[in-house]
Amino acid sequence: MVKINENYLKLPGSYLFSEVARRISAYTGAHPEAKIIKLSIGDVTRPLVPAVTQAMHRAVDEMGTAEGFHGYGPEQGYPFLREAIARFDYAERGVDIQPEEIFVSDGAKSDCGNIGDIFGTDNRVAVCDPVYPVYVDTNAMAGRAGEYSQQQGRWDRLLYIPCVAENGFYPAPPAERAELIYLCFPNNPTGAVATREQLKAWVDYANANGSVILFDSAYEAFITRPDIPHSIFEIEGARTCAIEFRSFSKTAGFTGTRCGYTVVPMELERGGARLNSLWNRRQTTKFNGVPYVVQRGAAAVYTPEGRAQIMENIGYYRRNAQVIREGLAGTGLECFGGVDAPYIWLRTPEGMGSWEFFDWVLDRANVATTPGAGFGPSGEGYVRLTAFGGAEDTRQAVERIRTALQGG
Ligand code: PLP
Repeated sequence: MVKINENYLKLPGSYLFSEVARRISAYTGAHPEAKIIKLSIGDVTRPLVPAVTQAMHRAVDEMGTAEGFHGYGPEQGYPFLREAIARFDYAERGVDIQPEEIFVSDGAKSDCGNIGDIFGTDNRVAVCDPVYPVYVDTNAMAGRAGEYSQQQGRWDRLLYIPCVAENGFYPAPPAERAELIYLCFPNNPTGAVATREQLKAWVDYANANGSVILFDSAYEAFITRPDIPHSIFEIEGARTCAIEFRSFSKTAGFTGTRCGYTVVPMELERGGARLNSLWNRRQTTKFNGVPYVVQRGAAAVYTPEGRAQIMENIGYYRRNAQVIREGLAGTGLECFGGVDAPYIWLRTPEGMGSWEFFDWVLDRANVATTPGAGFGPSGEGYVRLTAFGGAEDTRQAVERIRTALQGG
């Protein structure tokens, strides 16, 4: 009889978003007149910008001609896109990344999950707590996480680094050793960012211990403060210890279009092997590249019109974040994030649990949030709000929460 990967049997159900949906639907079932506003959605809502759709239209037309048809492309991505990324996302910020170090993919979720293929199963993995669940679950699937405790809401072989208000939501390098370290800045779900000095401490730790930092900067486009690094490679020493994941999803509305990329520097070597070569081997074996039409759309993000247009959309979400932060500021609720990130992390009042506060806001304000406890044990006592909704809905949702808190 075939043996299955029994690690899958240890995974807890993906409870968070299904439970949020279940509670909203139970509530609207009982209160059909309620118009729920979702500050819980992690997907973008603004459409693709004209520069992108026009480039995609042109690419579709090309594909219908004998001369312009593209079949299998390079698995690592077309040179036109890898070169645009190297130039506009890195060289323009003073960071030297070569096109050969960039691997275009169908998004950061796949890459964050697949990167584990090139690492042994006995590495110790460190994650922030709360955390984007993909890092945890993919390591559990690979057998690196040990056993799951339902009661504690955690895996016994993972090293969880609590990120809470008391430490500014910043994970300091631990005294223990971890070989694989997932860092995500700007952070989902807390909206926190890391300074250069904070990232330097991690780079020094990783170089000293032979660890590898897996740096997810899917939300870098939301950084507003000029001194906050957008890339781990802005930090000296990162080329010998870090891999970076980026995405066009939140930057340019590609959540449904699918495109992202991973940077593996040539200097990064472990166990006598160049990780760039291992990732190249993994991708060329298991992945057949991103569609030509999508890559043309992604490259259009870097044209002058494309850049101006996507910045307008990002500006729209940033204003939503500001409306949420400023609107809740006078209410006595403690709000974090939302300055350099599309996420606002709200501490629940009077020690209420995340789910308790979720139910309370749903009932009193008809606003849906995402309970922080769903992102890890240290997310208990917080909820996540997102800036990805419509401007009017966001304004109304904040107004309703304010009224509810005032006992209205
Ligand atoms: N990384 C983080 C931290 C995310 O929050 C998300 C999506 O929500 C992703 C990666 C996934 O990005 P993509 O759409 O490129 O797969």
